[in-house]
Amino acid sequence: MAPIFFVFFFLLFIPFSGGRAQPNQPGRISPGASLSPTTRPSSWPSPVGRFAFGFYQLQGTAGYAVGIWLVGKHNKTVVWTAIRDGPPITPNATLNFTEDGMLLSGTELITTATGSVSYATMLDNGNFVLSDKGSKTVWQSFDHPTDTIVEGQTLFAGGQLFSSLDMSDQYSTRSRFHLKMLDDGNLVLYPTNTTESSNDVYWESEPGRYGSKFYLHLNNTGDLDIINGTSLETFVRLDDSRASSVPNDSIIYRSTLDSDGIFRLYSHTYDQSGDFDVSTLWEALTDPCEVKTFCGFNSYCTFYDNKAYCLCLPGTDFLDPSDRSLGCGRNFSEGVCSGGKENETLYHIQTMDNMKWDDGPYVKEPMSTKEECSRSCLEDCYCGAALFSRGYCRKQNLPLRYVRRSPGEETTAIFKDGTVSLKSRNKTDSQKMPPGVIVRKTTIVEILLVTFGFTALSCVALAISGLFVFKSRVLRYRRMLENGNLGANEEVTLRLFSYNELKKATNGFKEEIGKGSFGAVYKGSLFKGRRLVAVKRLEKLIEEGEREFQAEMRAIGRTHHRNLVRLLGYCAEGSKRLLVYEYMRNGSLADLLFRVERRPDWGERVRIAQDVARGILYLHEECEAPIIHCDIKPQNILMDDFWTAKICDFGLAKFLMPDQTRTFTGIRGTRGYLAPEWYKNTPISVKADVYSYGMVLLEILCCRRNIELNVSDDDEISLSIWIYKCFVGRELDKIVRGEEVDKTTLENMVKVGLWCIQDEPALRPSMKSVLLMLEGISEVSIPPCPAPTSM
Ligand code: ATP
Repeated sequence: MAPIFFVFFFLLFIPFSGGRAQPNQPGRISPGASLSPTTRPSSWPSPVGRFAFGFYQLQGTAGYAVGIWLVGKHNKTVVWTAIRDGPPITPNATLNFTEDGMLLSGTELITTATGSVSYATMLDNGNFVLSDKGSKTVWQSFDHPTDTIVEGQTLFAGGQLFSSLDMSDQYSTRSRFHLKMLDDGNLVLYPTNTTESSNDVYWESEPGRYGSKFYLHLNNTGDLDIINGTSLETFVRLDDSRASSVPNDSIIYRSTLDSDGIFRLYSHTYDQSGDFDVSTLWEALTDPCEVKTFCGFNSYCTFYDNKAYCLCLPGTDFLDPSDRSLGCGRNFSEGVCSGGKENETLYHIQTMDNMKWDDGPYVKEPMSTKEECSRSCLEDCYCGAALFSRGYCRKQNLPLRYVRRSPGEETTAIFKDGTVSLKSRNKTDSQKMPPGVIVRKTTIVEILLVTFGFTALSCVALAISGLFVFKSRVLRYRRMLENGNLGANEEVTLRLFSYNELKKATNGFKEEIGKGSFGAVYKGSLFKGRRLVAVKRLEKLIEEGEREFQAEMRAIGRTHHRNLVRLLGYCAEGSKRLLVYEYMRNGSLADLLFRVERRPDWGERVRIAQDVARGILYLHEECEAPIIHCDIKPQNILMDDFWTAKICDFGLAKFLMPDQTRTFTGIRGTRGYLAPEWYKNTPISVKADVYSYGMVLLEILCCRRNIELNVSDDDEISLSIWIYKCFVGRELDKIVRGEEVDKTTLENMVKVGLWCIQDEPALRPSMKSVLLMLEGISEVSIPPCPAPTSM
């Protein structure tokens, strides 16, 4: 711990190093100046020329990006990029510096919240600064880091770095990893698109410091410090001999979250000619297998001969042998599992030592031997794998994630393998051999495969990513504009609104979009009309205190998923309770399926069914605390601008329940989608949502309601009875009224739907299994007749 006076000295120094641009400084840029990618000037250098701001060409493409880079005679290292998700910039673009900020071919690229801009400066420390008349900084690139901080730069509490897609292309995100500076002083690495739970962390500087408002600072001797007002802790200190062997002004340090998910410290040492050598001085992890999501579902990572490899777990094959990071799927038919000793005809057990994974088991039982654990898994229909260690058997569903082989682990992993194999998904000999042997015997083959895989992948990726990245960036760029959030961190925090603010946003609750069991929903707009919102005025609620309501809202606000309608904020003033959601322009799935003349085509319906399943899976298994929706139905699935299906009203069921802790609750939900357990005195679990999803799935397939009285044949009144009859009679084309559809997919989806609406909750699959079956990764067995009592 450094003495306090040192910390104060240091803190005084930081704003200065952040760079206040002086008006008479060389390299000052005035409004009216412009850049273009192909004609000079294409960039503005810093006074001594170490850094430059401007256009740089994206590797392997004809497109450009706007950014800041370290200038070498023959090379450059990009340290910041404006709008990483925007489309590649065309060669005929222009960047104009105006008093409002930077305009890229007329569109705002960098804008400031306050006042007009008087001049800009590319500083020698790598900070690009916009200043007003009084030389006050109104915007600086140091406040908006992308994947890098350079010496003198700070990552404040809550700040994040997002990795690029690959090492050579600093520009694109589709980021797989991010680094977050937590307020409590812990610096943490997570895979992107996770809930940031403790299971998702794959590296942390040091959990649980005393105090708050910590930030990360890279100082000009290459130390990485974690600091707050009272303490300074250096967690990466360079060895003195290295630091002093080269004159300090010839070295520039930078820390980057690289595309492989590892946070590294680099030095750039300049020679006389003005070129630099790059050295890696420190890395958070040396074993890429520690990086979670390095290997996909059902595969494991093993580090051999200084290289990390992804291999399939027993009983699975690569989904795509040319891209092993995508993971593996079952290679055997699961059959109809009845449990107990009869399972021996369906499965056998394979074991592997020294395995490790972090996800919690669905059951942990004390057992004395691994044989006992194996038998227990074999006879249990829900068990896909188990981990035996220190007298405990931890049983797990598939898919497994974050699996790695770790020689220090004293564990035995147990995997259920099938006796009836599916047509092999490119099964290799190496997959049939004991995994410890695989690596040694096939090292050369592995290396060749990996090399070949990488080359092939790079070519395909280049072609596809051009199109994909372009499309996704255009879309995301538009969304950012709509959010009024241009250039800012993507994370949008939940906002507490006053009643008057929402009254104004909805023009006095003028335009009612609809009414549900919670109350009326109104259209409104925020950010001077740039962002449309839906404001739900909750009525008829259980009496709940403001603090409890706020706690619930924060829990709902933390759920972020592409297939959930985003809660943007709320109001809790006196007895008033309002929720502010993103506005879904394209109505509900019910409108799409049951009302419009043109039905969504088959491909759209398959995609929507999968989207809805993903949203429910997230609620059940991936968010912080599992959420049972209790009212899955087409009216609660809304369509956004891009026709992505998003579930709404999640987390609200408890507001209508008299007693949240009871499992035997009063009925919630909507007739036709209600699981039978709602009518019986049995506990409600996530399987109640699976039932409702099954009904919705059948409705999506047929574009009709589950009960329809206006039909030619009485057999067709109940959708589930009719579909089961058609399924047994091999007449499924009837339910799609002769429409051109993929017959295998239709049959699979019907089978999944029928499994979901089984009377007995235990027979219904989990949402994870539903998704794997819908994606064609798991086979779907023949479902029994859904009990007529449930319809
Ligand atoms: P219930 O609450 O009884 O299940 P419901 O789901 O139709 O019924 P609400 O969720 O309150 O009721 O929605 C009422 C109407 O408002 C619906 O027509 C719905 O399509 C619309 N709506 C709700 N949320 C949004 C949103 N975020 N964007 C656009 N429209 C919305």
